[in-house]
Amino acid sequence: MSQEKCLFCRIASGELPSKKVYEDEEFVAFHDIRPAAPLHVLLIPRKHIASLSDLKPDDAPLLGRMMMTVGKLAEQLGVAYTGGETGFRTVFNTGPGGGQEVYHLHAHILAGPGPWSRMG
Ligand code: AMP
Ligand code: ZN
Repeated sequence: MSQEKCLFCRIASGELPSKKVYEDEEFVAFHDIRPAAPLHVLLIPRKHIASLSDLKPDDAPLLGRMMMTVGKLAEQLGVAYTGGETGFRTVFNTGPGGGQEVYHLHAHILAGPGPWSRMG
């Protein structure tokens, strides 16, 4: 899959529409078009990386910042773990064996009352 044709590269650049909830110079987050939970957001790096199995050692700092952004985003979306029954789930599907459909690295952030339809 070339980057020009990659669905999430085109969403990150704004070429394709999405319901964005967050963006900075390095990451974009938007609502999943087929939500599996009451809150279902995808966080992607602007850099095209196909999957967790395609990471290079140089990507480690970006991954660290991505996980920091997951925490920040959860707070912004009102689903951070603040005690009691609060919190959220983070999922990375990798390859056909992991159910990956879009080959641009993304973290699923899911939250809200269950039962969830997928990834529950
Ligand atoms: P995965 O199976 O981990 O590759 O997840 C890909 C996710 O992208 C699925 O949950 C899809 O519902 C979601 N998705 C596909 N196309 C779009 C789109 N145009 N906008 C938002 N989410 C999408
Ligand atoms: Zn891409």
